[in-house]
Amino acid sequence: MGIIVQKFGGTSVGSVERILNVANRVIAEVEAGNQVVVVVSAMGKTTDELVRLAGEITSNPSKREMDMLLTTGEQVTISLLSLAIGQKGYEAVSYTGWQAGIQTEAVHSNARITNIDTTKVKQRLEEGKIVVVAGFQGATVDGEITTLGRGGSDTTAVALAAALKADKCDIYTDVTGVFTTDPRYLKSARKLHSVSYDEMLELANLGAGVLHPRAVEFAKNYSMPLEVRSSMEAEHGTIIEEEVSMEKNLVVRGIAFEDQVTRVTVCGLPNGLHTLSTIFTTLAGNGLNVDIIIQSTTNVDTTNISFSVKTADLDETVRVLEENREALNFENIEHEDGLAKVSIVGSGMISNPGVAAEMFQVLANNEIQVKMVSTSEIKVSTVVEQASMVKAVEALHDAFELSVEEKQEVKA
Ligand code: ADP
Ligand code: ASP
Ligand code: MG
Repeated sequence: MGIIVQKFGGTSVGSVERILNVANRVIAEVEAGNQVVVVVSAMGKTTDELVRLAGEITSNPSKREMDMLLTTGEQVTISLLSLAIGQKGYEAVSYTGWQAGIQTEAVHSNARITNIDTTKVKQRLEEGKIVVVAGFQGATVDGEITTLGRGGSDTTAVALAAALKADKCDIYTDVTGVFTTDPRYLKSARKLHSVSYDEMLELANLGAGVLHPRAVEFAKNYSMPLEVRSSMEAEHGTIIEEEVSMEKNLVVRGIAFEDQVTRVTVCGLPNGLHTLSTIFTTLAGNGLNVDIIIQSTTNVDTTNISFSVKTADLDETVRVLEENREALNFENIEHEDGLAKVSIVGSGMISNPGVAAEMFQVLANNEIQVKMVSTSEIKVSTVVEQASMVKAVEALHDAFELSVEEKQEVKA
């Protein structure tokens, strides 16, 4: 007998019929002798719909009110699922995030979990009840309702699993596992048996929306094994765990990508020691996240700095730079939108030089221009035109033979 945390995403709870199906999967774990905590998302596209409704009222809504609005989505699902479980003869109790003891920092729309008081959840489990918790939400010490960022129900599940010292955390979704790349874009994508925490963290951060990056961070920090699997099909999914020695040497494990990237270039900055720190301190101070950074010196006195941002952040980025024009002392700002980021990820890169070179070669052979590059030990990211994004993914998936299981092994 152990504690299991199960998480079901939006599509998996998208209708009453699906909620009844989820109830069956929950009951199956109880019947197998486990104590079960279930974390659920809002039904189907409810969260998007709520965002759209607010957008009809204002283009600049208060983040506090948006959190208040969006948390209602999950609240619908917890009660319906508890009713469904009850209807099938088992006892379930639903809790909002704050009722379940999830405390977050005082930040709206993208808060981090700071503490979980599991007393109440543990008591209910001891009483033999199934506990159904609303994902994606928590509250500050002052009782303000917060959300954890889009896709954050995964993080609720893993954080609860860690706090409860659960035996495992299963993430049920609309695909059968983590694939070599998004199977919705590439039919030849292959399901992976296992992925290491570090690889999954890179994939998630680089756009593979199948898991919320902070969920993977929690799992890694608490060595919580995760399984990503289908809520519709019985087959086993993908295990996310510490590096598996057998598969350690895979050069490229997966390809992640995201569109809506813009490159901003600040031209004619003074070529001084503090230029870089001043510009990025200013942007960070205004809550703006920049991604890839390139500095190019044009002459001894001036320098250009390019960086990529999410296209949605472009206006705010330009506004902040212009506001600080005097202090930053630049000549002008240029930008190019309609870009995308395509990244290859694999722990085998550490011991295999030449992977980046091969990636550039493949892109060049397909006439795809690389506009920016960034690397880490286990990933290479390139910025390309958005129109070439899927073509780049296809070409790289093919070149690194990701659809063929055994071909991925490095020949020693
Ligand atoms: P949920 O609502 O269950 O949280 P999400 O939509 O957040 O589901 O995540 C599942 C989706 O992630 C899939 O439908 C798939 O399109 C997308 N995805 C992106 N990259 C990958 C990948 N490498 N493997 C599997 N799915 C991926
Ligand atoms: N309902 C939220 C969203 O759509 C959280 C989640 O599904 O994980 O982003
Ligand atoms: Mg999700």
